[in-house]
Order: sequence, then structure tokens, then C-alpha cells
Amino acid sequence: MTDSLQRRDIKKVVIANRGEIAVRAIRTCKELGIKTVAVYSEADKDSLHVMLADEAICIGPPNPQESYLNIPNIISAAEITGADAVYPGYGFLSENPKFAEIVEANGLIFIGPSPQTLRLIGNKVKAKQIAKRAGVPTIPGSARRTTLEEALDIAYEIGYPVILKAAAGGGGRGMRVVYSEKELREKYPLARSEAKVSFGDDTVYIEKFLLNPKHIEVQILADMHGKVVPVGDRECSIQRRHQKVIEEAPSPSIDTPTREKLYEAAVKFAKAVNYQGAGTVEFLYDTQSGNFYFIEMNGRIQVEHPVTEMVTGIDLVKWQFLIAMGEKLDIPLYPQINGMALEMRINAEDPRTFTPAPGPVERLILPGGFGVRVDTHLYQGYKVPPFYDSLLAKFIVWAPNREELMNRALRVLDETVIEGTGLKTNIEFHKFILQTKEFREAKHHVKLLEELGY
Ligand code: ADP
Repeated sequence: MTDSLQRRDIKKVVIANRGEIAVRAIRTCKELGIKTVAVYSEADKDSLHVMLADEAICIGPPNPQESYLNIPNIISAAEITGADAVYPGYGFLSENPKFAEIVEANGLIFIGPSPQTLRLIGNKVKAKQIAKRAGVPTIPGSARRTTLEEALDIAYEIGYPVILKAAAGGGGRGMRVVYSEKELREKYPLARSEAKVSFGDDTVYIEKFLLNPKHIEVQILADMHGKVVPVGDRECSIQRRHQKVIEEAPSPSIDTPTREKLYEAAVKFAKAVNYQGAGTVEFLYDTQSGNFYFIEMNGRIQVEHPVTEMVTGIDLVKWQFLIAMGEKLDIPLYPQINGMALEMRINAEDPRTFTPAPGPVERLILPGGFGVRVDTHLYQGYKVPPFYDSLLAKFIVWAPNREELMNRALRVLDETVIEGTGLKTNIEFHKFILQTKEFREAKHHVKLLEELGY
């Protein structure tokens, strides 16, 4: 295909998401001169994304199954408004190959990788096989559907502890750590039936459970013309129950040769799956051996993408749109990294139990000042509905060095007020993390919060 044939204009886009990421995407669309259509559930009629979009269409009741996951209603919204593209954001339908296929079958542009690519990377077993074939290091263990007998043999060989993973798992779910043969025999059937119930696929595989690794990921941008750029890395080792809490760019834990190898591996994988758009290749890094291992690729914009934007000056969402339109990726092969950035995920949750604590926003003071970016859908008077993800806001701070970064992050938390009846946040938890010796010295790892009792 020639370049001119690949160029497709986007004049109006349906934003098939809600909350801060819908707001984030609408902002970039405004700057690009693309009209936006918000879709919303009945619970979100007073949401900021609805107010900011040029048009808005209600797609169903609060239950996400009937609204944000309701494919026919989202396609209808595009038809009614004459939109020519769909932007999926993260979560919901963003990595659903069927959705991407239906969008394209309706003559609309899906802003993301192809359904084929989504299918390859959405299955962790397939992805692992591709990584292996491409010469990207993977964690010792199996790279295919594994029976209990095989799992026992492999575990014997690689040694306990091991981790059982659901091939179709995601979002920190579908993983079980196993410390002994007895436990493996017990947990294997559970992992299998849980995978079937949660993800509709009972494929389970096994890996060596790495002790206290760091989670380091590479942001990728890839255009339709074969250019693949590693747009820096992020470290996301502050996790609670496999869920990221604080992310940072660049990783404070790797040296230049390791970083170069990591970028090379990420690009190799992205090319092996014919990646197009913005995506993230995730690795676990073993600080003792200095080895890193591929864990998965996410075929969408990530929650933590702003830290990359802060240190590179590259608008990743803008490039998602331009790439989908067939433009050539007009950024350097190795974008320059300036300073450091850190993101804190502010959730509506009880600080003691970590259970969701939504409610009305009665008093709101958001942070600001030099080196501060706030991505949020909150406003005073907004009622946080109980039906969705508890993410309220992302506080992103930038500084020239890590000490100033930490001080700025604490300052930002100190000046924030998010209050209302029943509404609670994890702001104090963030303050606690920022003051731990391990995090300040960048000696943190994915198990740190668990070791500290969380
Ligand atoms: P998900 O798709 O659910 O996010 P990932 O495969 O990306 O799952 O893993 C999420 C997190 O789980 C990692 O960041 C890490 O903390 C932990 N994890 C996954 N695999 C291993 C492993 N083999 N050893 C130790 N920790 C692991």
C-alpha cells in the first residue's frame, strides 16, 4: 500500500471510556481539531467527560456490562453522530480484539493496534512464545498450556516458589504463588477453575516466582510505516496486590547498558507482533543477577503514560491519533529524557481496608505549581459513583532529580483536599510510601508494600 492510500482522516471520534482517561483524550482531540463524542452511562450523566465533549450520548445503565462494555450501543453512538473513529482508552473494551474488529467492520477507525495484534498479546502464553522466538528473555517455566503433571515436573526442575498464571488473566488477577509441591497440587485445580470463571479460558501456565523483582516497562510508539520507537521506560515497582500505586520515569534502578538492552528487547517484541500505535512492553528485573524478563505487552494507552510525557515532552495520545490516521512517526529514534517524573494514583478507598469508598466531592483543592500535572475528572459537587474503578485522579510531578521529585510529591499531597460524606482517599498511604527508606533510596521492589504489611 502506498502512503497516500494509508492516510485516513479522523474528524470526529467516539471516546469509548469514562473518567480521567476520557477527559485526557478529549483534551488532545480539541488541540488536534478533532470533534469528540462522549458516551456515558446513566450514572455518569454529570461527568466531566460529558461536559467537555462536543456531543454526548447515553449508552445504558450504570452496570458497565450494559454501557461501557455494550458494543452495539457504542457503535450506534458512532453512527448516530457520524463519527469516523473510536478511541478506547484503557480498561473496558480497549484490548478486546472482537471490539476492534467490529469497529473496523463498521467502517470506523479503531485507535489502537489491529485485532490480530490484540489477539496475540492478549494471550500471555502466546505472547511468551513469541517473545521466546524473537530472542526476548522470558521467565523460566512453561510457555504453553500446562497440565498439573507438567507443572509438577517443571516446578521440580526450576525450584519453588513458582507462580501459576492464567493465560487470559490481566489487571493483576489470575495469579497464584505456590511454595511447595503439596501446595501446587492443591492450588492448580483452583487456578484452573478460577481462570475459567474469571476469563472464560482455563489455560494456566507456570513460571519461576522471582524474589523481589522490579517492574520495569518500555513505552513504544509504532507507526504503519515500520518505525518503532522506545519512548523511554517506567518503573512501577510500588504495587499492592499486583496493582500499580506509584510509577516513575525513568527507572532509577538500571544503568545505560541494561536500558539499551531493554529497549532493544521491547522493540524486537513490538515488531514480532506487528505492533501499531502506543503500547507497553513489561518486564521484571532481577536486581541480583541484573537479568530482565518479558512478562507481557499491553496494547493500549496505560494509566501511567503521563510520566513518560513529562520527561519526553511527547504527547502519546496525540501520536495514537496521528498513527491511526497513517502519519509517519516524526520523533527521534531515541527521544531525549529530561529530568524525572512520578505518578501517584489517587483512589477513592478506605485507607485501612483498601475497599472502595466513593461519595460526593464536597470540598476539593487540587495541587498545582511548577512541575505538577493533575489528570482527573473530579470537580467540586461531582458525585463519585460506586460502579467503576476507584481511580479519582493522577498526580504527576516532574523534577530535575529524585530528591526534588520526592519533596515535590509530598508537597503536592500536603496541599490536596478531597473530602465528602463517605468519600475517602489513599492520600495518606501515598505520603507513607514516599517516606519509606526503601523507596527514597530506590531499593523498592514489587513486594515492598506486602513486606510492610499492606
Ligand atoms: P497482569 O497482566 O495481571 O498485570 P503481569 O504478568 O503484568 O500481570 O504481572 C503483574 C505483576 O505480578 C508484576 O508486576 C509482578 O509484581 C507480579 N509477577 C508476575 N509474574 C511474576 C513472577 N514470575 N515472579 C514474581 N512476580 C511476578
